[in-house]
Amino acid sequence: MTSRTDSQSEVNTEEKAEARDNTRKVFVRTYGCQMNVYDSDRMTDVLASEGYTAATSLEDADLVLLNTCHIREKAAEKVYSELGRIRKVKEERAKNGKPMMIGVAGCVAQAEGEEIARRAPIVDLVVGPQSYHRLPKLLGQAASGTKVVETEFDIDAKFDHLSEQAAAPVRKRPPAAFLTVQEGCDKFCTFCVVPYTRGAEVSRSVSQIVTEAEQMAAAGVREVTLLGQNVNAYHGEAEDGSVWGLGRLLRRLAEVDGLDRLRYTTSHPRDMDDDLIAAHRDLESLMPYLHLPVQSGSDNILKAMNRKHTRDEYFRLIDRIRDVVPNIALSGDFIVGFPGETDQDFEDTMDLIRRVEYGSAFSFKYSPRPGTPGASMEAQVPEDIKSTRLAELQALLSDQQRAFNASRLGMTFNVLLEKTGRQPGQLVGKSPWLQAVQLDAPETLIGSIQAVEIVEIGANSLFGRLIGGQDESVQARHKAGPKVLKEAAFDA
Ligand code: SF4
Repeated sequence: MTSRTDSQSEVNTEEKAEARDNTRKVFVRTYGCQMNVYDSDRMTDVLASEGYTAATSLEDADLVLLNTCHIREKAAEKVYSELGRIRKVKEERAKNGKPMMIGVAGCVAQAEGEEIARRAPIVDLVVGPQSYHRLPKLLGQAASGTKVVETEFDIDAKFDHLSEQAAAPVRKRPPAAFLTVQEGCDKFCTFCVVPYTRGAEVSRSVSQIVTEAEQMAAAGVREVTLLGQNVNAYHGEAEDGSVWGLGRLLRRLAEVDGLDRLRYTTSHPRDMDDDLIAAHRDLESLMPYLHLPVQSGSDNILKAMNRKHTRDEYFRLIDRIRDVVPNIALSGDFIVGFPGETDQDFEDTMDLIRRVEYGSAFSFKYSPRPGTPGASMEAQVPEDIKSTRLAELQALLSDQQRAFNASRLGMTFNVLLEKTGRQPGQLVGKSPWLQAVQLDAPETLIGSIQAVEIVEIGANSLFGRLIGGQDESVQARHKAGPKVLKEAAFDA
């Protein structure tokens, strides 16, 4: 499971567009997790090479792409309503002689396939997450009047093509960016659609990832978050034919010049191996933050969810991680009201949260996803009970998050400054523990890592002040090159 964002992605490829027909504009609307944000970026890269530039609004677009998410409740219905709104824009443009093509991508496209074309005739193209590299060809077919539905699971072809993309000159990137290293999942948790929409676990090769990371660093990226639905199940092939786990991959990426910060998400407790835990100990650039969803603190519910571990195993894992990185911020996902959840099961979850003490977390009421085993389980929990439990659980998690944030007051640490804030003269950055930090600083410092003292704690972010100049350890590391500061426990 992953955290959620809604964003709009834009193409910024003026140079290429000038050399081609630059009249076509694309508007990409992204729903869901960071992997969709990453995929939207890749789609815009592919389209940029075809001469598409960013539309400033939906009305201005020759091509509209909805990159959809299936995690949300009634996800497909929400897509159909959005398509209803877009239909009016398409009709309005048609009156003025301006055609508009509409594509649906992402997990809803994968899950619904032909059904989208049937229910929403305005849609020209339905494309699943593994086929984005074929967009130009598919758009060509759609432009000739053929309804295109492409939901093949040929993930290797996608990754190969992404690699070619990475080798091309890249547009300037923000200081923090995502990099997909793995897709799909073999775990089949009984509440989750991912194994059905994204398919089996597949890992990109080490060389593809390193090449893309080097390109990103050259384009200004300082922090990379490695993405995968089950990212710590990563098992990519290296050039010598050996298979690397995530820990070893992180050690290699820590050597990429210019990448000062590494993160990864989302992890499964079963795949948190010794090498990955040791990487947290050995790599200064690996941030002390770990999103490690447990979903429930009850063994009965963990079993019903097919999570493949017990609460005690989770506790032991947390102990091992904290032995190595005592200051790590732990984050999690929780589902309340899974079928069969009793008061005692819920109390077990509350007890687990009290014992672990999270720095942040995402929590949701269980809602059945069509086609998953959970949807047909008996003993579905009534909505009012789910709501009461969720409120209680979120109050506890909020208390823990406030306490964790408050513990940073008066501390000085490095902050990666990422963008301007809402107030004039304000910048927003990220702490090592993934907290938003706001401070007054000139825009010229965007993209730099600065030592910041925390002077105030807000509801959702920290407020700090620059204590002068770029942090010396960062400068030193730039001069020194590779950022493996301690001896690696596992030889690369
Ligand atoms: S581990 Fe479970 S929740 Fe996470 S993607 Fe796989 S099936 Fe879904």
